Amino acid sequence: MLLKKFRSMVVVSGAVVALTAAVAFASGALVMSADEALTGLMDGNKRYVANQMSGQKLCDLPTREALAKGQKPYAIILSCSDSRVPPEIIFDKGLGEIFVVRVAGNIPDPVILGSIEYAAEHLGSPLIMVLGHERCGAVTAAVDAKGKPEGNIGAIIRTITPAVKQARKEAAGKSKPELVEVAIDDNVKLVAAALTRQSKVIKHLVAEGKVKIVSAKYDLDDGTVTLLK
Ligand SMILES: [Zn+2]
Repeated sequence: MLLKKFRSMVVVSGAVVALTAAVAFASGALVMSADEALTGLMDGNKRYVANQMSGQKLCDLPTREALAKGQKPYAIILSCSDSRVPPEIIFDKGLGEIFVVRVAGNIPDPVILGSIEYAAEHLGSPLIMVLGHERCGAVTAAVDAKGKPEGNIGAIIRTITPAVKQARKEAAGKSKPELVEVAIDDNVKLVAAALTRQSKVIKHLVAEGKVKIVSAKYDLDDGTVTLLK
C-alpha cells in the first residue's frame, strides 16, 4: 500500500512520530512523482471499491495540527460537482492529500484554471487528473440542448458542446445513453488537452516535466476509476 510505503518516521523532541503521506509531503520529508501520486489515487480507489477505506485516519487531530502549518497536496483533481463523486471519498484520501476543483461537467474556465495553476505552481502538485463520470447530468444536458443555450447553465452546456459534436460523429447510430457515455469520455479528454492550451503556466510545467495530466472516468455502479487513453 502506497500510504504505508510513504509513512516515514522522524524524531521530534526525542519522540518517534509516524508521518502520514500528506504530512510528510507537506513537511518536505517526501517528494512524490506524478506516477507515485497516480498510484496513490488508484490504490485508494481500490480500497474504496473493496470497502476497506483508511482515509479517515488522515482526518485525525495530529494530521490536522501538522497540516495547519501548510499544505502540499500531491494531486489536483478537476471533477464534476455530482454528489455521488466526491474525490476524497472515492480515492480514500484524508486532509491535505488532494487539491480538488469541482464544477458541473468538470470543465475549465479562467477561475478554475487559476485554481489549478495555484496548486501546480505554488503547492507543487505533480499530477492533474481530469475526472468525468458515468451518466453525467451536465453532459446529458449538453446532448439534449437545442438552439443556443442561455444563462449560467448555458455557459456549462456551451463548454461541453464540442465534446458532444465529436461524440455524435463517433457514436453515429448508437443509442442516446451510449452517445452520452462517448460524450463524457470525449469531454474529459478535450478538457485535459485544453489545460495546456488555455493555461501558459500549466503548459510550462508540463513541458518542464514537473506536472503530468491524466484523464479518468468514475463508474457510478461499481465505484471504479478507470484511466482514459
Ligand atoms: Zn457530472
